[in-house]
Amino acid sequence: MKRVTLLGATGSIGLRALEVVQSYPDELAVAGLAARGSNVELIADLCRRHSPAAVALIDPDAVDRLAKALPSPRPELLRGPQGLVTLAREVDADIVLSALVGAAGLLPTMAGIQAGRAMALANKETLVMAGSLMTAAARDGRVPLLPVDSEHSAIFQCLAGHNGRDVQRILLTGSGGPFRETPKAALATVTVDDALRHPTWKMGPKITIDSATMMNKGLEIIEARWLFDVDPEQVQVVVHPQSIVHSMVEYVDGAVIAQLGVADMGIPILYALTYPERRPVPGSRLDLTKVGALTFFEPDPDKFACLRLARAVLDAGGVAPVVLNAANEIAVAAFLDKRIRFTAIAELIERALAAMPPAALTSIEQCVAVDAEARRRVEAFVDAGIGRR
Ligand code: NAD
Ligand code: MG
Repeated sequence: MKRVTLLGATGSIGLRALEVVQSYPDELAVAGLAARGSNVELIADLCRRHSPAAVALIDPDAVDRLAKALPSPRPELLRGPQGLVTLAREVDADIVLSALVGAAGLLPTMAGIQAGRAMALANKETLVMAGSLMTAAARDGRVPLLPVDSEHSAIFQCLAGHNGRDVQRILLTGSGGPFRETPKAALATVTVDDALRHPTWKMGPKITIDSATMMNKGLEIIEARWLFDVDPEQVQVVVHPQSIVHSMVEYVDGAVIAQLGVADMGIPILYALTYPERRPVPGSRLDLTKVGALTFFEPDPDKFACLRLARAVLDAGGVAPVVLNAANEIAVAAFLDKRIRFTAIAELIERALAAMPPAALTSIEQCVAVDAEARRRVEAFVDAGIGRR
């Protein structure tokens, strides 16, 4: 029996992962659950259904409400950001699925790696912030980092059985988001509802906005750089509106290996949880004769400034990706709150990068401090009316 701890259990990835775990009751069980705590009823329900040994919630008041909702014997309850770190480190689990959104995942994910637990990684923002530190810690502890992001799961599968030295390029596919065909001049006036209408995937709000700005693909370039130890120039983004080819690897002899499938995060989640084995999945299957045509385009870095900014911070290195990630999180939240224009997301990130001094990244503590400072700066920009709709 594999015991799974889920960080971000109430999110889009977390709930899909719980469905997957429930489908294999003889093989997978829940060890611990963690979430922010904004929906205590849902968390109580998940506890009744999955009987975790422990639950950690970022919101301390939510822990008190959960205690009232659950009669004893109830799971051990942990509170605050430190509670999530304790859960990842101490609850006995064979694998930890890191599926919190954003920088909130940094310390619990690092704690899981440092405790020597296999990690299934959905939380790409933490690899963007601290990829060098996380992959070094994983190497030192011989901890497997198993990608859950669909593109990275695809690349991981295309690399299996091959020699890493023979890789020429990684072809990272992306749908292009809801504004693939929108003229650049029209982007300034798109609404939150427009941006939340993703053409192929149903996901949490933050990553859905990241897909609309194509920052998601930018973050994924950085994620690929760290997960697969490739040079940034080896990662090429290919827009593929059907989201059927989840990514490809080109080898030195010109052979290109691709991984295809329907757009269902259950597939990469299950693969990470059962790796190196595969399990049968009921449900919809890829029928290429129904799909018909698969098309591929170059992305437009002039229209999607976030893609250009992500490349720039990867080249700059050090704390630059930490600043980009923090600025993006604050800007996306401000856009969702209807405080700034869509195009101000990239403008605010550019301002934050210009305002913060470059530095080498040497520790997680420094990463946390730079993240906090970048957030403060971008919040101040937004309060000052920069990027207002
Ligand atoms: P979501 O918004 O649906 O869920 C986020 C989870 O994180 C929830 O459980 C929430 O309680 C928790 N959380 C903890 N701290 C939080 C905070 N400070 N603010 C907000 N939420 C907080 O997100 P999601 O779509 O499940 O994505 C989770 C991660 O997986 C992200 O890093 C995302 O980029 C990545 N990812 C998601 C998908 C997808 O299909 N949804 C695909 C690939 C990668
Ligand atoms: Mg992805």
